[in-house]
Amino acid sequence: MKFIAIVLGLAAGVSLLFGARHMMPCSTGGCALQSLLDSPKPPHAAHASAAGVTGAFIGPPPANIPGPASPAPASKKENPSVPSSTAANTANAAPVYSKSAYDVTPLGPARIKTLAAKLAPEDARIILAKGTEPAFCGTLLDNKKEGAYVCKLCGLPLFSSDSKFNSGTGWPSFNKPFDKDHVSYVRDDSHGMTRVEINCARCGGHLGHVFDDGPQPTGLRYCLNGASLEFIDKGAEWPEASRPVRTETAYFAGGCFWGVEDRFQQVPGVIDAVSGYQGGSVDNPTYEKVCGHGTGHAETVRVVFDPARLSYTDLLAKFFKFHDATQLNRQGPDVGDQYRSAIFADNETQLRLANSYIASLAAAPRYKGRAIVTQVRSVADAGKFYPAEDYHQDYHAKHGGHCALPPDEE
Ligand SMILES: [Zn+2]
Repeated sequence: MKFIAIVLGLAAGVSLLFGARHMMPCSTGGCALQSLLDSPKPPHAAHASAAGVTGAFIGPPPANIPGPASPAPASKKENPSVPSSTAANTANAAPVYSKSAYDVTPLGPARIKTLAAKLAPEDARIILAKGTEPAFCGTLLDNKKEGAYVCKLCGLPLFSSDSKFNSGTGWPSFNKPFDKDHVSYVRDDSHGMTRVEINCARCGGHLGHVFDDGPQPTGLRYCLNGASLEFIDKGAEWPEASRPVRTETAYFAGGCFWGVEDRFQQVPGVIDAVSGYQGGSVDNPTYEKVCGHGTGHAETVRVVFDPARLSYTDLLAKFFKFHDATQLNRQGPDVGDQYRSAIFADNETQLRLANSYIASLAAAPRYKGRAIVTQVRSVADAGKFYPAEDYHQDYHAKHGGHCALPPDEE
């Protein structure tokens, strides 16, 4: 039985209502929104744009508009001790990753200035100074090729040809972004109306606006300046700036997976942590079956990380701080073999590092007279990882509270 302290937070309701179809050209101040019911300011920080103008996120946007990079679950990938407004201006900011494993850490002013030097004057006017290109003039409007549309300033993939549609407005239009974490949203009250401006989440470059009169399934219309985009043909080699980070995967079982997942999510360099089951003898285990002790699985967390920012040994050090490795088949008040301490190594190097790390720990004063009972097995031996049911994912991020884990003391 889990022993969980849960603090329920009351989420503020947000409702933004948008108006009629896109009737006027953006270049003359159109793209009208008939109404906007604003919401309380979100808890996350302001975002610095490429133009150096700081605008507050209006997020989270209406239920059908994906939120900016910082709210949950994307926020789990950001070091909560570093506000994004600080990160935007700090060269050594904690890394922020998108769900599709792109490094979307806000670029600092110096980097943006370097990137902006390559822009043609008209592109710079649109991207850096929130300009709008004339309707029916962009080169990408009628592009029907398969591929990706990336940020002209920083290279981040922003939209895919799969979501492009002909809106008849004269600007390239899409009904969803490439990754919801790649676009940020800012309330725009210019030209005597209220609109939702969209920017590149990494460099802050101006892209256009989003409206709620797009086709299903999203019902959204992302109205783009073609000048803010570059197209990469499907099958072409993607430039380095348009690729996701190279990742590695690790698996740790240390008691209640809610708490272990929550702790790993907050480690800078961790891209994603997922709660699940591993090390058992049956396929497709469920929470009920695992709790019934009939499957042999351990509550396990799959950690995808950026080895350029974080080593496997760093993760091992965190793991042994996040739980008590001397408790056999339990973790505090959580009793049962599903709460056992275990490491499932993804390759031979991880297997060697895990065993040597435990050997060195066993000699440390902290473990004097207390045996480390952590199982170390290869994934090839222990079997595949099965993600847990959706309601177990991001549990503490959604509901607050904490599991009975030792404090993360350095
Ligand atoms: Zn960008």
